[in-house]
Amino acid sequence: MLIRNAEIDFAWRADVRIEDGIIVEMGSGLASGRDAEIDARGGALLPGLHDHHFHLLAFAAARDSVRCGPPFVADAETLADALRSRASASPGGWIRGIGYHESVAGEIDRDWLDRVLPMGPARIQHRSGRLWILNSRALEIVAGGNTPLETVNGQLTGRLYDGDAWLRGRIGMVVPPIQDASLYLASRGVIGITDTTPGNRLREFALLGEARRAGDLLQNILLMGGPGLDGLPPAEGVRVGARKFHLHETALPDADELVADIRQSHAAGRPAAFHCVTLGELLFVLGALEEAGGIRGDRIEHAAVAPPDLLPWIARLGLTVVSQPNFIAERGDAYLSDVDPVDRPWLYRQRGFREAGIRLAAGTDAPFGDADPWAAMQAAVTRRTRAGAIIGAGEELTPEAALALFTGAPDDPGGPPRTITVGAPADLCLLDRPWAEARRGLSEVAVTVTIVAGRVIWP
Ligand SMILES: [Zn+2]
Repeated sequence: MLIRNAEIDFAWRADVRIEDGIIVEMGSGLASGRDAEIDARGGALLPGLHDHHFHLLAFAAARDSVRCGPPFVADAETLADALRSRASASPGGWIRGIGYHESVAGEIDRDWLDRVLPMGPARIQHRSGRLWILNSRALEIVAGGNTPLETVNGQLTGRLYDGDAWLRGRIGMVVPPIQDASLYLASRGVIGITDTTPGNRLREFALLGEARRAGDLLQNILLMGGPGLDGLPPAEGVRVGARKFHLHETALPDADELVADIRQSHAAGRPAAFHCVTLGELLFVLGALEEAGGIRGDRIEHAAVAPPDLLPWIARLGLTVVSQPNFIAERGDAYLSDVDPVDRPWLYRQRGFREAGIRLAAGTDAPFGDADPWAAMQAAVTRRTRAGAIIGAGEELTPEAALALFTGAPDDPGGPPRTITVGAPADLCLLDRPWAEARRGLSEVAVTVTIVAGRVIWP
């Protein structure tokens, strides 16, 4: 393949020849061969993006679900219409709704759902993630034995609180359609993701490898998860990444146990990654790492609140921070009313980490955040909430630094950005405009071509 007239390194124009998945030649006026040619028309050719914090199966499931709450659905009638039209598209199949909120139709239950969806099984998740509402057909399938389903006067209401794992066990593994999710990512220049789901096991490893083989999954995957993934060799573009520790301030594990688990993970050749959204969680992890010792690749996911006095400690331990600048845009207005004013300047910091010598990378955390990395980069540049307020003045990044959040190597996020050079893998994305234009509004760029290992995955 030959890409003509591409802008390289934000600066100069060149033709780029790709053979066997590798960039083999760069320069002006390269001879045409029998290769397919793409005219870049001066658009910026960049390293393909890697989203360093993502939940692929949940993202695919969310794209396949009916959105049941604001801002997509505001009233009962619209919700009923959305559910009915999904049911008529897949008669008898499971209907899955997400994001329900009482402002739409009040405290709905099985009776409400039965009136709308009398035939096939349906389940709707509350926006909090803690409540499912099931219709009668769904209850017939999952009920039985000792259930956590809510009853009133001996009758099942269809409401299920904190019963996620139980419900999954009863319904069985439902594989969401990966192809549509993967194509969306390709359309935004994403050539790889790190799947940070703590519950990833052999099953997910096999499933994603299978999706790659079938051609449904186009990106490379670095798969975090539990100790069950130790020692698995890479297969079909899926590689095992860090061991993920999902901590919650309200239920922290025993500190000695955590230290032992970190050591075990390091001994297995895997870095450790920690979900830290509160100051308490961050302090707990730093203490544990101090004792266990860190290795390159250990990472803090989110580091949502990081006051200045902790930065030298994070730097000394050699940790990488994987942040979600998109949350500033998506949730910033809520932070401004909910987060203690003392903590607000230290929310999802960027420049503060970099200036303290801490490696910084980003991931969108989709489906919990918007999956568009360009919107995330834009938020990293502006630090603006949807309503236009600025969070963390002084934390803004240049557009080039924002891009670098997504162009570090998968196993060295926040390390040196990958570059377009002879000998490098042809994992690329091509923009519809030169960088000087793109940097003025990163969320507006269109990606015209995305390439993984020399193969065009978009369009
Ligand atoms: Zn996450």
